[in-house]
Amino acid sequence: MKKRTSSKKIATIFVSLFMLAAVIFASIHLLALHTRQIPPLLQAPQWETAVRNAKTKYEAQLSYDEQAHTICGHETIHVNNTSAEDWGTLCLNDWPSSDVFVSSPCGGSTELTNCTISTDAGSYAVEPVRSDGVPSAISVPLASPLPAGESLQVDMDMVIHIPQKYDRFGYTETACNLGSFLPQLALWKNGEWVIHPYFEGGESVASECADYSVTLTAPKNLTVICTGESTTEHGVTVANASHVRDFCMVIGKGWHKVERQHGNVRVRSYYKRNSIMGYEALSAAVDALSAFGSSIGAYPYSTLDIVETGIWPGGIEFGQIILINHAIYAFSSDFFHGYTHDFFRLLVAHEVAHQWFYGVVGNDQYDDPWIDEGFATYLEHVYADFVGIHHPIGYVEPTFRLDSSVQELNKGEYASYIYTAGGAFLAELRETWGDDAFFSLLRDLYTHHGFEVIQTNDLLMEIREHSPEKSTEKTQDLISRYFHR
Ligand SMILES: [Zn+2]
Repeated sequence: MKKRTSSKKIATIFVSLFMLAAVIFASIHLLALHTRQIPPLLQAPQWETAVRNAKTKYEAQLSYDEQAHTICGHETIHVNNTSAEDWGTLCLNDWPSSDVFVSSPCGGSTELTNCTISTDAGSYAVEPVRSDGVPSAISVPLASPLPAGESLQVDMDMVIHIPQKYDRFGYTETACNLGSFLPQLALWKNGEWVIHPYFEGGESVASECADYSVTLTAPKNLTVICTGESTTEHGVTVANASHVRDFCMVIGKGWHKVERQHGNVRVRSYYKRNSIMGYEALSAAVDALSAFGSSIGAYPYSTLDIVETGIWPGGIEFGQIILINHAIYAFSSDFFHGYTHDFFRLLVAHEVAHQWFYGVVGNDQYDDPWIDEGFATYLEHVYADFVGIHHPIGYVEPTFRLDSSVQELNKGEYASYIYTAGGAFLAELRETWGDDAFFSLLRDLYTHHGFEVIQTNDLLMEIREHSPEKSTEKTQDLISRYFHR
């Protein structure tokens, strides 16, 4: 009996000590959370080259017919030949006319009429020619070549047919998504126009940053969310965006909106029913802006919108706007508090990361798909460390080389390899170099290649130049493991 009493006392003391330790641990943890220093945002780089270069400008006056599922109107493209070569023809991307949209219910496509070219010498009509093999590529013949450094104006009327499709371009019961819908000057790279087919398993677009000024007339009961600063009055939306990689609009109704000012950026989350998810999207986007803004450089635009809509697969990025699959918002709260909670926040952070890599530091998503996806995947971990989410690196032995184009990969390889191995390469680089050299690379890429399109060769050159001297050999070993170089 005494012995039992004595054991009980020891047990009570042990439990008390354990609880005291737990309370101290929890207090320290909470204190750490409350006192966590939010690192200051870095200054936005000056991007002198980009500001000096006169970018292409797009102006469009459009109207949306909700019943016919069409966008009609006029587009003017102020083309500046910023390359070093003369352009004998122009090439436009017309993604709505890709096979995948043409063959969808209600069929997507663009009809172009009344196309004219204007130069200092006068105006003339031209007949655009659609490429046989790649219907999304349109060649615009010129009466005389456009010399390097010179400019001209292209004008055209158009009717854009919107298919019924859960995609970046298409309408569903939730909204009408207009991603990459305007005829847009193709990318001029290595002395020729870049012509890629649409890749349904991922992304295959490539474009220079440009300025957009778009007016859209739509039924007054609809909400228009789009790239850039916009106002809507009496059904007329006027939008302006500068130095963006592309222009996107989402048109629909029934959204709730929550917003927060983050420094100079107005962050807005548009959701339909699940307010928990709507707030989570806003909070994840704000934290991602802090995480990337303090480690790479400030977000250079004044707005960022996260929109719940009917797309495939989870999320997709456009200039200043991110679309997230509405099915994810429909998960129950119980499910949301489990695995999905972190998955959703990481998904939003991934798409926000594309504003840095793809948006500002651009790449050809068909020829160099690993660049934007690898960096965005790695930046998920930077975000996860920032907010305290457990998100282990997915190390994979690279069976394909990262400098494989979309053409060389099937959908499964693209999904599992480009993202995971791209992120793993950057993780290994950081482990080899240390934080200072690694984040110096990210900051310099952002500063020196902002508003440009970077290719794998240039990027690997930057990586070799940023490698600490003691790591030169290990850096080359890493490059040889992950690339054909
Ligand atoms: Zn991505």
